[in-house]
Parts: sequence; structure tokens; C-alpha cells
Amino acid sequence: MKLPKFKYIAPKSVKEASSLLKEYGDRAIALAGGSDLLVNLKNRLKNREFLIDLKAIPRMDRVTFSEPEGLTIGAMATLRDLIEIATVRENYPMLVQAAESVGTPQVQYMGTVAGNLCLDNRCYYYNQSPWWHAGREACWKLGGRTCYTVRGSKTCWATYCGDTAPALLALGAKIKVAEPAGEKTMPLQELYSGDGENPTTLKAGQFITEITIPLPAGGSGGAYLKLRRRQAINFPLLGVAVNLRLNGKRSTCEDARIALTAVERKPILIEEALMLKGGKLNEAAIAEVLEAAHNQAHPVDNLSGLPPSYRKKMVKIYLAKAINQALQAAQRKGK
Ligand SMILES: Cc1cc2nc3c(=O)[nH]c(=O)nc-3n(C[C@H](O)[C@H](O)[C@H](O)COP(=O)(O)OP(=O)(O)OC[C@H]3O[C@@H](n4cnc5c(N)ncnc54)[C@H](O)[C@@H]3O)c2cc1C
Ligand code: SF4
Repeated sequence: MKLPKFKYIAPKSVKEASSLLKEYGDRAIALAGGSDLLVNLKNRLKNREFLIDLKAIPRMDRVTFSEPEGLTIGAMATLRDLIEIATVRENYPMLVQAAESVGTPQVQYMGTVAGNLCLDNRCYYYNQSPWWHAGREACWKLGGRTCYTVRGSKTCWATYCGDTAPALLALGAKIKVAEPAGEKTMPLQELYSGDGENPTTLKAGQFITEITIPLPAGGSGGAYLKLRRRQAINFPLLGVAVNLRLNGKRSTCEDARIALTAVERKPILIEEALMLKGGKLNEAAIAEVLEAAHNQAHPVDNLSGLPPSYRKKMVKIYLAKAINQALQAAQRKGK
């Protein structure tokens, strides 16, 4: 399928890119690796006169690690960079698990970290060709006034399906956002609107320039587990990320962060994970956290592969497994 006509612009600085995105507003969109955006343009799901390619901006693909700052990932660093850089593998193995689970190696070489965070929400009734769409009335996400997934809904329930967002949320990541007036830093969770049609809170002129993750404290361990139909190419039908920190004697939990993907319109940071803090990881405390995560997962019937009831049921099972794996990783780190 052919791409529609558009004007390609490759600004040389963050300021220039931000000014162009602000000036053209809804007529322009940021282009990173293009592995999601170009497919959506070909399918006529997005219509833009201007593509603002971020590739020519210097140093946007750098990944640096230092103590005490931790990890800084340039927005244009690829998922493959995360997988291959030794300091990332050593200090943030859960993030590497998430990056390795994305699509295929080809997708990982093209796909950037910021592109993965800003992935458009997905829905069986949306991610289709123009011919498929021609046969039915447009739904909310395509400018219409109906929803085929949740009948009678006045809003869109398209699902956020990125793999690295839950891992980064569990690692306490922040993002730097450029805008014409300068740059601001915010917690990653503030990037997500929870609106299936417009999944991020970014306004015209704003784009991510880097992602930062704090230095992992001693005794930290994590795990990312992904439910999908096949072990390659597939988007998640559920993803769970857990990051735990045990104290020196490894008997009590000093910190716990848990996030989910593919079961809501945005990745969900489970605040109740904090209940695991300050005590021994016992079955009762874990059961409460599993229950809280289960209650916050609202999968709907818009991703091919497995029914929503099964995906919801799997939240507790995958999370219990991930907590166990994170615990083992934290115990190994503490040795
Ligand atoms: C076959 C296939 C399988 C896939 N499987 C998976 C999978 O399993 N898991 C998964 O998570 N993804 C998957 N993807 C989706 C996609 O390839 C990845 O999410 C990839 O990381 C997207 O990054 P990109 O750089 O290509 O983004 P692009 O396609 O360039 O952009 C994606 C979106 O992000 C916006 N964007 C890009 N950079 C910025 C920025 N710096 N600031 C603000 N907005 C920005 C763009 O405007 C666009 O809206 C798959 C794609 C394909 C084609
Ligand atoms: S959730 Fe509903 S409105 Fe949103 S893309 Fe799917 S069918 Fe369309």
C-alpha cells in the first residue's frame, strides 16, 4: 500500500522541531523510526501534511549511564540499543526484557524508545485497511460517532499496547518534553491521557527528547512478563512489570513498583504496590496487590487473540509470577 503525499522536514535542532510542530499543529506529526506511524499513514488512519523527522537532531539517540544520575535514554535511541548496551543489560535487565519482547529484531532496530512510549492506541476495528473501513460507518477514533467495541460508548476504548512503558513506569522513569519555550521534565505517568483517541497529553509543539531512570538501589530486582498468542511479532495482550527493592538483609521490602499494559487505554501504575513496602513479602500483602491490579485492568474485546475475560484473569497469575521472579532477581543482586 502506498504512503499518502506529505511534506518531509528534518529539522536540525530541538527548538526548530518544536517550533515546526507548534506552527503546523494538527497538520504535522513527529516521525521517529516510523515502524508504527508509517503503517498508520498507509492505512489512512492518520492524515498529515507534514512529517517532522527527529532523526537529524544531534545527540537525540544517545544512551548514557553514570552514578549517581542513572540512565539517560535519548528519545531516538532504538529498542535494540537498550538490548545491546552493556550498562543497560547489567543495571536494568527488566527494561531489556521488555525491549526484547517487542515485535521482531527488525522492529527493534527501527523502533525508538520514545516512539514506543507514544505508540497510538490499538483496536481491531481501527488497525485495518481503508477498504475494510469503507464497509462500515466510522467510529470515534476515525472521526465518527460510534464504538464497535463497547456498544453505546460515547468515547473510544482503543487499548495502549506498548511494551516498554510498564517497565519504565515500574523503574520510576521521567521524561523530558521539548516545547517552543524550552524543556520540562515530568513523571512518565503524566504522558498518558487515558483517552483512546488521543492517548498522550502532549500538545502541539511538544515532543519527548529524553527518558531518565534513577540509579537502581542495591537489592533491586525486576521482571517483565508478556501474554501474547505467539512468542514473536505479537503485541501484548497483557504485560506486567514489577520492580522490587529488598533491604540489606533481604528480609523486608523497601520499595515496590508495578505497572500493567494492554488492559486499559493507558499503561497503569498500580499505586497499591506500595502496600508491599516496609514488611516481609507475605501472601496476604501480595494477594491484596494482585486484587488491586485485577480491579484496575479493564480489557475490552478489541485485540485479536484472546478474550478479555481470559486476559483479566491472567493479570493475577502473571503478576504473581513476575513478583516471584523480581524477588529472586533482587535476592541475587543482594548476594
Ligand atoms: C510487525 C510489528 C510488530 C510490532 N510489535 C510490537 C510489540 O510487540 N510491542 C510494541 O510495543 N510495539 C510493537 N510494534 C510497534 C512499534 O514498532 C514499536 O512500538 C516502536 O517502538 C515504535 O517506535 P518508532 O520509533 O518506530 O515510532 P514511530 O512509528 O516513528 O512513531 C510512533 C508514534 O510516536 C510518536 N513519536 C515518535 N517519537 C516521538 C517523540 N520523541 N516525542 C513524541 N512523540 C513521538 C509519533 O508521532 C507517532 O505518533 C510493532 C510494529 C510492527 C510493524
Ligand atoms: S474502541 Fe471503539 S471507537 Fe475506539 S477504535 Fe475501537 S471501535 Fe473505534
